[in-house]
Amino acid sequence: MRIGFIGLGIMGKPMAKNLIKAGHELIVYDLAKSGVEELETAGAVAASSAKEASKGVEVVITMLPNSPHVKEAVCGPNGVLEGAGEGVVLIDMSSIAPGASQEISAACKAKGVKMLDAPVSGGEPKAIDGTLSIMVGGDRESFEKLKCPVLEKMGASVVLCGESGAGNTTKLVNQIIVACNIAAVAEAFTLAVKTGVDPSVVFDAIKGGLAGSTVMNAKLPMMLAQNFKPGFKIDLHIKDLNNAIEAGKASGSPLPLAETALNMLQELHDSGFGQEDHSALARYYESISGVKIKG
Ligand code: NAD
Repeated sequence: MRIGFIGLGIMGKPMAKNLIKAGHELIVYDLAKSGVEELETAGAVAASSAKEASKGVEVVITMLPNSPHVKEAVCGPNGVLEGAGEGVVLIDMSSIAPGASQEISAACKAKGVKMLDAPVSGGEPKAIDGTLSIMVGGDRESFEKLKCPVLEKMGASVVLCGESGAGNTTKLVNQIIVACNIAAVAEAFTLAVKTGVDPSVVFDAIKGGLAGSTVMNAKLPMMLAQNFKPGFKIDLHIKDLNNAIEAGKASGSPLPLAETALNMLQELHDSGFGQEDHSALARYYESISGVKIKG
C-alpha cells in the first residue's frame, strides 16, 4: 500500500519504520528535516509538503503534537486535503481534542476523504516494538479495511471505540487515570517518608494488593531513583489534561481530580520541569512537604 506519513517525531519515526518493514511504500513529511532524512535512509520517499505526501496514496497518517498542528497539516494551505484524492483514508494518530477530531473529520468528508482518529498509548518503546495500544474512532468499514494491513503493524491492541472522536475520548480517559494515579502514588509515598517508613518496603508490601497498578510499577521506581528522564513529558500531559477539561466542559462532565493534577503539572512546568517525565509529580510533593521519595 502507498501511505503518506506526516509527523516524524519521537513516536512517528518508529511507527513509520514499522510500516516500511511490513512492506508498505511510504512518502513522508515533517517540518523538521532530521526525521525525514532518517526515514529516507530507512527506504521512504521524502515529500516537500503535507499536500505532496497525500498525492497518489491510499492512506495518510498524521502523528503530530496537538489539535492546531493537525488542523494546519490537514486543512491548511499545502495540506492533506489539497493533495488527497477521493476515497483516501486519513488516520490521525496524534492525541488531540475529540471536538477538533470531529471538525477535521467533517472537513475531510466534504472532500470525499474518510478519517479515523487513532491515538496511541505505550510511548516510544512500544512504538519501536510495534506493540502500541491503538484506540480508534470513525466508520467501521475504514477501520476493518485498515486494521490488519496498517494499524496492527504498529500496535498489539487495536480497538474501535465508536464514532469520530471516540478514539481521542478514550485516550483522554486513559490520561486522566494515569495523571491522577501518579499524583496519588507521589502523595501516598510522601506520607510514608514523612512518617519514617521506608518507601521501598511499603512498595513491596502493597504492590500485589488492590493499590497495585501498572502506573505504580512503572513510575514509583523512577521516583525512588529520583530519575525523571522522559518517558512521557509533563508538557504533553498538560496538553492532554487541557483537552480533557475542554471535553468535560463540552459534555457537562465534572473533572475535579483532573483539574487538581493539571494544576500540579502546570506548577512544575512553570518551575522549568516541563520536559521531565510525568513521574516528576514527586517534585511537586517535595516542594510542599520538604521531603524526597527516595529508595
Ligand atoms: P514530537 O514533538 O516528538 O513530534 C511531533 C513532530 O511533528 C515533530 O517532528 C514536528 O516537527 C512535527 N510537526 C509539527 N507540526 C507539523 C506540521 N504542521 N507539519 C509537519 N510536521 C509537523 O511528538 P511525539 O512524542 O512524537 O508525539 C506525537 C503525538 O503522540 C502527540 O499527540 C503525543 O501526545 C502523542 N503520544 C506521545 C507519546 C510519547 O511517549 N511521546 C505517547 C503516546 C502518545
